[in-house]
Amino acid sequence: MIRGSCLCRGYQFEIDGRISDLHRCHCSICRKATGAGAIAILATAVKSFKWVCGEDSIQKYDRPGGWTTSFCPTCGTPAPHLSPNRKVWSIPAGCLDDDPGKHVAEHIFVGSIASWDSVSPGAAEYDEWGPDDQG
Ligand SMILES: [Zn+2]
Ligand SMILES: [Zn+2]
Repeated sequence: MIRGSCLCRGYQFEIDGRISDLHRCHCSICRKATGAGAIAILATAVKSFKWVCGEDSIQKYDRPGGWTTSFCPTCGTPAPHLSPNRKVWSIPAGCLDDDPGKHVAEHIFVGSIASWDSVSPGAAEYDEWGPDDQG
């Protein structure tokens, strides 16, 4: 069992099942949305993910062009969101309370990485989407 929550603990969730390795997205949109160089994301199947509390309060921002982010309205922490195909949850690794025991397997949108950011050695790098990512 891996637990996660936002900074104010307004939302909390549990993962009971397999999780993916992490990817870090360096695109300019994730950079703005997180205030960091990149967001680290992992995925788990719908059946493995359960909200403990706070699901109903989570806010969404739909950016024109089709990009969506979810976040806690009280503290602003990015929140897990269901993929467009509704098969997996995409989970910001920074909101996990437990060690997922996974590593960063790939860096995506390295083509738009900030000049002050860097990638971790040994991970795959893609200028845009990686081969296994959901659009
Ligand atoms: Zn919060
Ligand atoms: Zn991104």
